[in-house]
Amino acid sequence: MTDTDVNNSSLNAPDDVAATKGPRYTFPIQSPVLRRFCASHDELCPECGGGLDTGWECNDCGYDARDEAYPPYERERDKRNEGIW
Ligand SMILES: [Zn+2]
Repeated sequence: MTDTDVNNSSLNAPDDVAATKGPRYTFPIQSPVLRRFCASHDELCPECGGGLDTGWECNDCGYDARDEAYPPYERERDKRNEGIW
């Protein structure tokens, strides 16, 4: 009768290594400020947390986060700056 757990193979067991990375959000995000930060800084959909494509559209739910990630007034400002330089 042997119930000793000698064969404790700890190889190939990366359980929650990459689980604690980056900021944590609760989707859909309620705060407008946090929605903007999530979309522009982390490039994540503020509705479901999916990845945004280059047009700021969510790959998962199709939400268009462009106005949150890159608001029209910022686009105007950048356009002007480009004109100056
Ligand atoms: Zn989404």
